[in-house]
Amino acid sequence: MELIIATTNVHKIREIRALLKPLHQLDILSLRDFPEYSQPPETGTTFEENAILKATDAARALNKWAVADDSGLVVPALGGAPGVYSARYAGERAADIDNRRKLLKEMADLEEIGRTAYFECAIALASPKGLKKCVKGICEGMILTKERGRNGFGYDPLFLKHDYNQTFGELEESVKNQVSHRGKALEKLKLILETI
Ligand code: IMP
Repeated sequence: MELIIATTNVHKIREIRALLKPLHQLDILSLRDFPEYSQPPETGTTFEENAILKATDAARALNKWAVADDSGLVVPALGGAPGVYSARYAGERAADIDNRRKLLKEMADLEEIGRTAYFECAIALASPKGLKKCVKGICEGMILTKERGRNGFGYDPLFLKHDYNQTFGELEESVKNQVSHRGKALEKLKLILETI
């Protein structure tokens, strides 16, 4: 069965591909294979809404099964920001480094207790006929005051995973995949994909 990962984000594609690899019956594609397709605007106010929007639109338009991830960083002390706006926290076309700088600035006055944060990920699975399932995963940690590590993407160099005492920017991708919000959501999705 062909399955499109409905994103052009190379980091997400690599992580999702690695996590779905054990499902040998899947022929995995991504939106990089369909340059003529443009994604719908992310108008949802929750991760689930945006994941469902992206998966159902891609599946219908490309007439194949699709999975879409919508994810972000939630800092309770900032009222849940950057949340669903994680990719555009510092502006519409902000680069990851700009978003991290803005986050550090917004959190500059926060003591350790206020630096608790979690990543959240919603993954939707859709067929050309519509939504099949949406699953979620979260991963808790804290935001450091300085970046550590060069792996990963987005807020990874600032996100400390307590039990490893390393940031997602320091952990090997295979380790991140085992414990991350995306990894946890995909574990649930795998059970569903196995039955299709
Ligand atoms: P989306 O493409 O709208 O889902 O935006 C996801 C954004 O959330 C990314 O651009 C990152 O800023 C952030 N994000 C999501 N997952 C991760 C992760 O695993 N590590 C670091 N940042 C992430």
